[in-house]
Amino acid sequence: MRKGVKMADTNIEPPLWLLAEITYRCPLHCVFCYNPVDYAKQHKELSTKEWIDVLRQGRRMGAAQLGLSGGEPLLRNDLEEIVEEGRKLGYYINLITSGIGLTEKRIKRLKDAGLDHIQLSFQDSTKEMNDFLSSTKTFDLKKKVAELIKKYDYPMVLNCVLHKLNIDHIGEILTMAESMGADYVELANTQFYSWAKLNRDQLLPSKEQLERAEKTMKKFRDRLGNRMKLFFIMPDYYSNRPKKCMNGWGNIFVTIQSDGTVLPCHVASMLPGMEFPSIREKPLDWIWYKSPGFNKFRGKSWMKEPCKSCPEQNEDLGGCRCQAYMLTGDPANADPVCDKSEHHAKVIEAVEDASKPINNEKKIIFRTDSDSRKLMNQKINGGLDLEKNRLFEDSSSPSDEKSRVGSSSVEIP
Ligand code: SF4
Ligand code: SF4
Repeated sequence: MRKGVKMADTNIEPPLWLLAEITYRCPLHCVFCYNPVDYAKQHKELSTKEWIDVLRQGRRMGAAQLGLSGGEPLLRNDLEEIVEEGRKLGYYINLITSGIGLTEKRIKRLKDAGLDHIQLSFQDSTKEMNDFLSSTKTFDLKKKVAELIKKYDYPMVLNCVLHKLNIDHIGEILTMAESMGADYVELANTQFYSWAKLNRDQLLPSKEQLERAEKTMKKFRDRLGNRMKLFFIMPDYYSNRPKKCMNGWGNIFVTIQSDGTVLPCHVASMLPGMEFPSIREKPLDWIWYKSPGFNKFRGKSWMKEPCKSCPEQNEDLGGCRCQAYMLTGDPANADPVCDKSEHHAKVIEAVEDASKPINNEKKIIFRTDSDSRKLMNQKINGGLDLEKNRLFEDSSSPSDEKSRVGSSSVEIP
């Protein structure tokens, strides 16, 4: 039984994790970005007061872990205020950042406000690839930020998203992390949602690349032991069973988008026919316990065959609803990563294509406001293929409020 104030007439447990995507503005343009492809539809970001109210509601319900992410959360000038309030409420607070904008002045203020943990992302061990993948010149800045994180006595937690273009540098990435004094390194292979799905042909590594990378990672792990803890997350596509996505729909995690839309996972807004309310319209506890969107895929009663009668259903709960929708068109299907799914051939086909040379004629798409808007317009005009169409919310259309999204200038450390 989790702690917190439950609604009276329910057996549903309260959330433990609250992920606050406090802004979709970001100075980087990563090709694998996990933000929704149609993020430039976003209208008005929640105000400081509204965010603090969300945190209060979440804490009252029992949430204990708070993730502050984006976009780039440092682009919000009120980040320190949000952290301070989160701390007072008793959350354990993790900042998920590209590091851009983390000056000494700000890290000091964040430390004083009670920030517990910083997770810093790198794109690669080389300046060229790091800067290419994010379409910025940020490699040297990130190195300075890593020094500041050490100086302010935070555990050094580095994250590098792996894919076809950088996975062969895994040895160099780990050497770089070691030289920076990293305590934890998360090497998360790209999962193919959002911008990464658009760029899947260029980003899905081959089986050989993955096997080599795993071997290198194990050598480092054997040598470094607990001195630098390594987490290596395989891409779903190379497994024949899906992951227990979000540890169950509406079970532990709740995500609040920058405009207050409340979701069971950070990409669920693309699922068709689902309405996810905004915190501006409904209280968080009603959304969690009572809203049709949060109840739609809770538990197992929604399952169809082969999941419905599968003896393994408790292991993975049928996998990821968003992946099922992206690849099969029906979110209630088994995740096609599963080899019992009638659509598993789609995954096999992508894996087979990954062993072929990259088709350089196909352009890689960087996460930018202008591309988000362009893609939304193409979708509206019927110019996208079926699988790309599925990456967009039914009714998404570009917002006019350009100032609320996109690149911003930030203070350089
Ligand atoms: S563009 Fe990169 S840094 Fe910015 S939100 Fe996306 S993944 Fe994170
Ligand atoms: S059939 Fe469904 S429940 Fe069974 S292993 Fe596959 S995804 Fe999981």
